Amino acid sequence: MDLIEKILSNKTPLKSDIVRLLSLPAPTDVEKLRKTAFDLTTRVMGNNVYLRGIVEFSNICNLNCFYCGIRKDNTEVERYSLSTEEIVECAVWAASSGYGSCVLQSGERRDEYFVKFVEDCIRKIKEKTRSDILPNGLGITLSLGEQNPETYKRFFNAGAHRYLIRIETSNAELFAKLHPEKQLFKDRKESLNLLKSIGFQVGTGVMIGIPNQTLEDLADDILFFADNDIDMIGMGPYIVHPQSPIFNKGMMNKKELLQLSLNMIAVTRLVLKDVNIAATTALQAIAPDGREQGILYGANIVMPNLTPKNARKNYQLYEGKPCINETRNECKICLKNRIESVGRKVGFNQWGDSKHFTKRTY
Ligand code: SAH
Repeated sequence: MDLIEKILSNKTPLKSDIVRLLSLPAPTDVEKLRKTAFDLTTRVMGNNVYLRGIVEFSNICNLNCFYCGIRKDNTEVERYSLSTEEIVECAVWAASSGYGSCVLQSGERRDEYFVKFVEDCIRKIKEKTRSDILPNGLGITLSLGEQNPETYKRFFNAGAHRYLIRIETSNAELFAKLHPEKQLFKDRKESLNLLKSIGFQVGTGVMIGIPNQTLEDLADDILFFADNDIDMIGMGPYIVHPQSPIFNKGMMNKKELLQLSLNMIAVTRLVLKDVNIAATTALQAIAPDGREQGILYGANIVMPNLTPKNARKNYQLYEGKPCINETRNECKICLKNRIESVGRKVGFNQWGDSKHFTKRTY
């Protein structure tokens, strides 16, 4: 049996086998991996790619992650917060464009004003987007970092049904090198359990190519997703930000980083099978067709940017974020073409929930 078949047939694949697949170089050796992942995606998840319009509604952040461009101590970023009306307007536009779902993302804040603000936005989005086409309104995913259990419950009761919180790396020692002392790996992990127990579809992910990260670490990341019964995966290449403390540690060269990121998507698909996997924007920051390639390697979700143009330039988590000069209309046309160019269809007006979640909660 070859390595790919072995991974597909094993309930808990061997870490050493995952490492071997992750290190396959482009392009000929990797083609079988890519094609197997792509075909498996079509078979298990269908031919649709689902859209989640993302609104990066505020870059105000109280945390100081060493890799991130909008960390609290970066005084060179102009801080902004969109108003409730602006956020709701973005969501209504997404619904009327057939996107089916949106993601609300921001820097991390836990104060009552912020929590109430988000709760209010969720309720208003739901109210304004219910229609014959979307009877339950626009699907809402949150990406607001660590919150307390009460807050997660409030967001869920207001109508959000998915939550993304990346573990960043499953190697606790490496995690500690990337974050200030009071930001703990165990808290981030605990959030995944809390969110699941409340009823959210839970997404996590990692950065790929972090300084000092090994292929073994990445293999462990995939096994972590499996062990923690994760419903959705959003992972992307680590890209340096010039105003971050780990800038001088550099990053992988873009060609190798792209291939490694694509291999991560493909192997994650082979191991987890029925989860939603996003072709993230960071892929496009290292290759113009990065997101299409992500789809060709087994991703089935894309997150078009809905953030108003004048705010986008201030939401740069990493250097060279793409589409910062494009309007949402331009993004809409461009994405549909990109998705169809790789033989997929856009799942307009559908939530496109994770099949893994449906099975897990059945
Ligand atoms: N504050 C929220 C959401 C915003 S950050 C949270 O922490 O969950 C969203 C993601 O951007 C992070 O989880 C991280 O994986 C990614 N990110 C931040 N800086 C990055 C960088 N320099 N390169 C690549 N991805 C980065």
